[in-house]
Amino acid sequence: MDKLTVRDFDASRKKIFLRVDFNVPLEDGKVTDDSRIRAAIPTIAHLLRQNAIIILASHLGRPNGKVVDSLRLRPVAERLSGLIRVPVRVTGDALGIGTVDAIARLKPGQMLMLENLRFHAAEEANDAEFAKQLASYAEVYVNDAFGTAHRAHASTVGVAKLLPPYAGLLMEREISMLSSLLEAPERPFFAVVGGAKVSGKIKVLEQLMERVDGFIVGGGMANTFLAANGFGVGKSLLERDRIEDAKRILAAAEARGVEFLLPSDVVVAKEVTRGAEHKVVPAQKIPNSWSAVDIGPATIAQFDEALAPARTVLWNGPLGVFEVPTFGDGTRAMARSLAARAAEGVTVVVGGGDSVAAVEQLGLAEKMTHISTGGGASLEFLEGRELPGIAVLPDRPEPQRKVARSRAARSRSGAEDHGTDNDEGAAAAAKGAA
Ligand code: ADP
Ligand code: MG
Repeated sequence: MDKLTVRDFDASRKKIFLRVDFNVPLEDGKVTDDSRIRAAIPTIAHLLRQNAIIILASHLGRPNGKVVDSLRLRPVAERLSGLIRVPVRVTGDALGIGTVDAIARLKPGQMLMLENLRFHAAEEANDAEFAKQLASYAEVYVNDAFGTAHRAHASTVGVAKLLPPYAGLLMEREISMLSSLLEAPERPFFAVVGGAKVSGKIKVLEQLMERVDGFIVGGGMANTFLAANGFGVGKSLLERDRIEDAKRILAAAEARGVEFLLPSDVVVAKEVTRGAEHKVVPAQKIPNSWSAVDIGPATIAQFDEALAPARTVLWNGPLGVFEVPTFGDGTRAMARSLAARAAEGVTVVVGGGDSVAAVEQLGLAEKMTHISTGGGASLEFLEGRELPGIAVLPDRPEPQRKVARSRAARSRSGAEDHGTDNDEGAAAAAKGAA
């Protein structure tokens, strides 16, 4: 998947409708995790360098088509403004004459942010009239909102059909990192999968089955696999109606010679709460009135050892109830183990809202090869599904590849580190010539 990107057109003095995913966590009106804001800065900086006029658009939370004051984008705009040192004001509404006027007054190199798009029900309904209004603000559409690409909304699909559409640099990177896992991962390739439930991840496990050398499974979903192997799991989170699916997955792994590692020991607790009584037991001997809340120390060591030969690792889903610090050992150990492997040149991709949050909390995000900004979107991408917000962005036409790539490489040469871009250019040129 090679999309036309923001590097493929001259943005100078043009009005750009830039859809970003600034759906960040807020507490008392303050942004508590700005990683999604920071992830969009390369695209914003690229456009500002070119003297474009940027109309930023995002949703925040679930206001369900009504104005909710606590979901206004002002704190987000303030954080962005602080990071890039450019004033970013927010319009009172995504629509209306005030907004049209404010946009008309923008000069090249300036930007503003539309108020939360989901204050209008028309956004999620992908309403044609709403999309037309948004499109009327700009000459070009750029989508950098990978985290919302699995939604066919007015700002992710509707507007993209009304203006020349391009992918932003974050969108480009997400697509390239995640598709390389599905298309050409360096082997051995291991998937570490955890989180609460098997049900949400069955399709991903099936999609990855043909691609990985091994699965390493922990967290709540491991219980359903332990049950499929005939063990009792006490009061642990268990999806009885998924035991058959779990059996099928275990059989498929066996048939393909794919390693499938489950915990050999677990931390069990009387209650899944802070301060609850807890102990380590063999995974096959979870006592009746206890719940498995984390992988045990032997499992931590086994998982780490199993990953030793890996050249590529995908991690999705925490290995325990890490929100309770006492039950976060397995998740923390995996984060550290993967950070160390990434430092040695292993490709480590972390996807999934909670696993990413765990890695961010430990301050290890920068160490990983790629931290996906999409929760649901990354999962759907890894399931092999077509995401509407990506499908609507045009692919680079095959015969133009060589020209466009070398133009892009030339215009960037000398700046920053572009070693891999040039390699890519050469590869694309070779492909075009073949
Ligand atoms: P991600 O967002 O990374 O895809 P999920 O949403 O699938 O991950 O799962 C995250 C949740 O799984 C966390 O809230 C965590 O507390 C929970 N979890 C992990 N291990 C267990 C367990 N053993 N029992 C119950 N819940 C668990
Ligand atoms: Mg989650």
